Amino acid sequence: MIRRPGLSNMNKYTGMISLIIPAFNEEENLPVLVHRLMAVMKPYADYEILIIDDGSTDQTRHVLRQLSLAYPVVRFISFSRNFGHQMALRAGYDHAQGNAVICLDADLQHPPELIPALIDKWQEGYEVVYTVRKSDPKLSWFKRTTSAQFYKLLRKVSDLDIEDGAADFRLLDRKVVDTLKQFKENDLFLRGAISWVGFRQCRVLYEPAARYAGQSKYSFQKMLKLAAMGITSFSTRPLYLSVGLGFVMSLFALLMGMEVTYEYFFTDATVSGWATLVVLIALIGGVQFIMIGIIGVYLGKTFVEVKQRPAYIIGDTSEIEETVTTWQTPTETDLFYSRSM
Ligand code: UDP
Ligand code: MG
Repeated sequence: MIRRPGLSNMNKYTGMISLIIPAFNEEENLPVLVHRLMAVMKPYADYEILIIDDGSTDQTRHVLRQLSLAYPVVRFISFSRNFGHQMALRAGYDHAQGNAVICLDADLQHPPELIPALIDKWQEGYEVVYTVRKSDPKLSWFKRTTSAQFYKLLRKVSDLDIEDGAADFRLLDRKVVDTLKQFKENDLFLRGAISWVGFRQCRVLYEPAARYAGQSKYSFQKMLKLAAMGITSFSTRPLYLSVGLGFVMSLFALLMGMEVTYEYFFTDATVSGWATLVVLIALIGGVQFIMIGIIGVYLGKTFVEVKQRPAYIIGDTSEIEETVTTWQTPTETDLFYSRSM
């Protein structure tokens, strides 16, 4: 790789790695998680653990303060209230300093021991290393089917290609993180955005563990909200439903018109005035649906424009200068640490 000249045989030298962890009422999990992460990260010279406390109401904040005092690698951010998992992840991406940013859940369902495998893939040159959970019999039937159906629907209505079981456990290169920071929309569905931005992506399979302590913090209501956000923030296709429906109704009016005209001229079964009424009602209904649909489609365009997403994203250039400056050349001290740790 261009970015790491001469570093191929020192695979533990990676520059800084950030681990970001959203946590909502996870007081019991955090100390265990931090210790497991520190054990896994030992071979890496430089890393930070950035925990985002999403407005917890238990002792999470206190635990985080203790952890950050005890270990300089631990940093934390506390939200003023519960803003939700996606917002916590965004805050993590905004404040992480590493060349690679890995996010994982606080409940140890995302095994920290997989992190070196993600970093290896990154060193091979992948800029997005996402994980897909192997189908897990321990996971409730309800969670499995709702998640599979959701991804199926999302693939259908948007142009995103997200795999079933894609988790918010992934590594992103600094380039990708900086790109995500350009998304100004408030309701950002990260899984969609990461699939949308492109870059060199690769997947790693993992076996989810059981939640270490506490209960799932994703209520059914939060899951529904996430699903609605995923669909509406990456697709305006539902708006075309109205146009389609309008055409179907107008076609129905036309056929009906033909039928009642036939009855009027060739049979004596019609009540006077009925034919005109029925055809008019169906026709007006159809035209209304079409008009609402057209307004909807323009509204959809406004909706997309208002987000001011980047029109295109550059993944690589021939300007070696630029790519090299984002990679800090290791100093003698760095190299010493990378060998000795
Ligand atoms: N989480 C959060 N804010 C919320 C809900 C969840 O930051 O409003 C965090 C939670 O602490 C955990 C991660 O998001 O680290 C995933 O949540 P959880 O394990 O409860 O979800 P599940 O694994 O059941 O889907
Ligand atoms: Mg969990």
